[in-house]
Amino acid sequence: MNQWYRDRLKAEIPGLLDYWQPKINQQVSDWGIKKMKTRWGSCNISERRIWLNLELAKYPIECLEYVLVHELVHLLERYHNDRFKAYMNQLLPHWSHCHNLLNPKPNR
Ligand SMILES: [Zn+2]
Repeated sequence: MNQWYRDRLKAEIPGLLDYWQPKINQQVSDWGIKKMKTRWGSCNISERRIWLNLELAKYPIECLEYVLVHELVHLLERYHNDRFKAYMNQLLPHWSHCHNLLNPKPNR
């Protein structure tokens, strides 16, 4: 079952990156999928690598998109500050809907 989820994410992520990277004007050097207990995604800013949680495959694609955009925005702004939220509001005005769907897990 895990393999099916992984394949689903692997099929969706390249198209999302093709769409969002030019919009945000940032490129990742690499990305991957892994099981994470406490995060939906993570971003290594210096290496420009993002990780997405395998569990996202169980949620609507909007949630995967939200986490992916969140991690890409970290390439512009490291912290969850007002500047970060302004980017999110501009790029994905409905982000809080997805955020609530994914709660109570904290997102990074
Ligand atoms: Zn974050």
